Amino acid sequence: MVRRVAVVGAGVSGLAATKCCLEEGLEPTCFERSEDVGGLWYYTNKAEEGRASIYRTVFTNSCKEMSCYPDFPFPDDHPNYMHNTRLQHYLCKYAEHFGLLQHIQFKTLVTKVKKHPNFSVTGQWEVVTQRDGKEETAVFDAVMVCSGHQVYPNLPLADFPGIEKFKGCYFHSREYKEPEKFRGKKVLVIGLGNSGSDIAVELSTMASQVYLSTRSGSWVMSRVWDKGYPWDMLVITRFQSWLGTILPRALSNWLYVRSMNRSFKHENFGLMPLERASRKEPVFNDDLPGRIACGVVVIKPNVKEFREKSVLFQDGTVQDGVDLVVFATGYICSYPFMEDHSIIKSRDNEVTLYKGIIPPQLEKPTIAVIGLVQTLGAIMPTVDLQCRWAIKVFQGQCTLPPIREMMDDIDEKMGKKLKGHRNSSMLQTDYVTYMDELASAIGVKPSMTKLLLTDPRLALEVFFGPCTPYQFRLVGPGKWSGARKAILTQWDRTLRATQTRITPAAPTTFPWLAVLGMLFLPLLLLLAALMRRWL
Ligand code: FAD
Repeated sequence: MVRRVAVVGAGVSGLAATKCCLEEGLEPTCFERSEDVGGLWYYTNKAEEGRASIYRTVFTNSCKEMSCYPDFPFPDDHPNYMHNTRLQHYLCKYAEHFGLLQHIQFKTLVTKVKKHPNFSVTGQWEVVTQRDGKEETAVFDAVMVCSGHQVYPNLPLADFPGIEKFKGCYFHSREYKEPEKFRGKKVLVIGLGNSGSDIAVELSTMASQVYLSTRSGSWVMSRVWDKGYPWDMLVITRFQSWLGTILPRALSNWLYVRSMNRSFKHENFGLMPLERASRKEPVFNDDLPGRIACGVVVIKPNVKEFREKSVLFQDGTVQDGVDLVVFATGYICSYPFMEDHSIIKSRDNEVTLYKGIIPPQLEKPTIAVIGLVQTLGAIMPTVDLQCRWAIKVFQGQCTLPPIREMMDDIDEKMGKKLKGHRNSSMLQTDYVTYMDELASAIGVKPSMTKLLLTDPRLALEVFFGPCTPYQFRLVGPGKWSGARKAILTQWDRTLRATQTRITPAAPTTFPWLAVLGMLFLPLLLLLAALMRRWL
């Protein structure tokens, strides 16, 4: 029987793991190498070994209503998108509120996780930790790996011929903190992801010129959509996800791309075929289009070769006098404390996990990797549900299918998508579908039919409104009594954040018109598709 659980890391994932263990009456011990909670959101002036590192001006790109823990909403007056210090403050409050701090051992590094000699019978693990130079070993019934996935830089220097000749300075984006010391420099940022575009925009306020090199282009979305509503509250809905399941793939791809049309496209970004564009993760940046329009950020194709002081691009253009190169080339997954690396990376040295969480080939399913799956949705609700699911698996209350089926599921749902995102170390999947799969398995998915019959107002908001985290604490084990109210007031909190003065006409509490406007075309197409089928 699982009782003692080791949690590696006290970031967003580790806090959720510790809290969910307590909720289920387990005894978690969370080991955190730094001296505070928050992980990536705990900002330090210098990148630290083995820990995620962010720049000073990182803001969230998922809004507060979509990215809170499902039973701990952000305060009303918080802005919709937050600076890292505010998010860090929220995480501290969460840890305090749920009494997590006494279960966390700070400044304690997990150096080894290995199977106990009796693993095949007990499923237990030996966890070796180091604190103040002292080593300790303890036995746990289960382990939750919450050590983060934006820690170990992917620096593919071998793909950049001539980099050894380059006389300027270069580093990975995790080393970047602030722009001041690059005043007047000519900078090349490689990679048009969220970090690459943020860093390019920020450097463009100081540097003499910024070039942003992208291999395949991207869709650049603004956080704020029509009438000031947060993008994710309009895009991530059950209705849109359902449309994706009933419409032919080409049509749903087209609709997705159409919604991306609100994002900025530029021929220099390299428009891609519909099929590829529809699967590509967008980049969130409110300022990049303006910076490109003003010519302070110039989009370039892939680098062909570095020379001593210049860079040759694939289109044959050369930029002279480049002083600095920032490689915003992402991260690789690494678990240096795992004695047997093949537990998590069991096939072709690639992460192979059922539901992106549990290694499928173990005699006992008593280890879980939390926070690796990447969706358009936010991480807090995702890891909350992953932890609840994993704990039910540990306890044997949620049984796993046979290995063969799990491997097929991995190939079907994760494998193909992972291949489609070669330069990403994360497992990508659709948010609502993924959340519903986990929720169904542990009996916490809200039934639309039941809701419609018992609470139609709530049902409409759940189906057509944003798929907010509270939906996954509305029913079943772990139900939160405040979930219904939180759902019905989610737009109030969203609007209140921007209502900082009294205006003559009070806006409606729910943006029906905006949502109906967005739904008009999909509904029309749905009707047309159904009519074609019927006639
Ligand atoms: P981390 O935050 O990396 O935490 C891992 C913790 O484990 C750390 O505290 C580390 O010290 C500890 N640790 C690691 N190894 C050990 C060890 N061996 N022993 C002991 N402790 C250890 N997601 C969103 O949902 N919304 C956003 O707006 C958003 N913005 C982002 C912006 C940036 C720039 C980046 C890089 C990511 C963003 N993300 C966002 C995704 C991000 O991954 C998550 O928000 C989240 O912080 C990840 O949490 P985590 O707990 O899984 O990992």
